[in-house]
Amino acid sequence: MYYPINEMFQTIQGEGYYTGTPSIFIRLQGCPIHCKWCDTKYTWTCLDRNEISYDELIKKNTPSSKWSSANVKKILFYIKQKKWTAKHVVITGGEPCIYDLSYLTEELEKQGYKCQIETSGTQLVQCSLNTWVTVSPKKNQNTLRAAILRSNEIKYPVLKKEDLLYLDKILLVLKNTKKHHISLQPISQNKEALDICIKKCTINNWRLSIQLHKYLLIQ
Ligand code: SF4
Repeated sequence: MYYPINEMFQTIQGEGYYTGTPSIFIRLQGCPIHCKWCDTKYTWTCLDRNEISYDELIKKNTPSSKWSSANVKKILFYIKQKKWTAKHVVITGGEPCIYDLSYLTEELEKQGYKCQIETSGTQLVQCSLNTWVTVSPKKNQNTLRAAILRSNEIKYPVLKKEDLLYLDKILLVLKNTKKHHISLQPISQNKEALDICIKKCTINNWRLSIQLHKYLLIQ
């Protein structure tokens, strides 16, 4: 199975439960959600005219809509070529769950990697049983019940106090289920959003996800 890769890079996971974990990010091209405040808008469309070769992908160092098709073998070769040592792989986008990620996650696990998927929860989550699934619901989008139940973690972006109402609806689905890790993430380092998140996290004993990489000025 081939996946449209926008970029791959090694860095420190800056969000959610695995904050601080050395990670290899695989960013897939394509997202039908189109959030207003999205910081990866260049991943939305997957146009044929933007397809590049594997060699061009390796050299790509600025964000753009260019993508290259790769299977697991090529992805593993890429990691080896770059001599990356992180053992945590984050599959993100775009919206990675528009693709069936079962084979990719299973094969990466066979090579000793721990997989994490970051998804909006609007698509069916297809991945290995051991994959850590981070659902980041987008207000007023159709977050699937099945995706919420499959998640290990809910990471919710907040700008205004009213945004929390949609989270309450999501959490109703999780009532009486296994313990989930919940974190609130202020959008775009907005001060008002940060205050709202700190207050709500403190009351509920949830985590604050601050997008550490943006403070460290790393990718
Ligand atoms: S779901 Fe994610 S990638 Fe898609 S538009 Fe929203 S923030 Fe951007």
